[in-house]
Amino acid sequence: MQITVNTPACVGAGQCVMAAGELFDQDDDGIVMLLEDSPDAAQQAGARRAASLCPARAIKIAE
Ligand code: SF4
Repeated sequence: MQITVNTPACVGAGQCVMAAGELFDQDDDGIVMLLEDSPDAAQQAGARRAASLCPARAIKIAE
């Protein structure tokens, strides 16, 4: 699995951090920071949840 984030699209909603805090963080302006772009098996459900919850559709998952 490969995660990419479209930071210009991010609206700082923070859903990704709540869904998978080990993969995503937010900078001082609330914009997403990708901590890990190749999640291990245990982290992949959280990555999918984050992508589905993101209101800006800013998180893309490639399998
Ligand atoms: S859920 Fe989407 S819009 Fe919200 S902080 Fe994460 S990437 Fe940005």
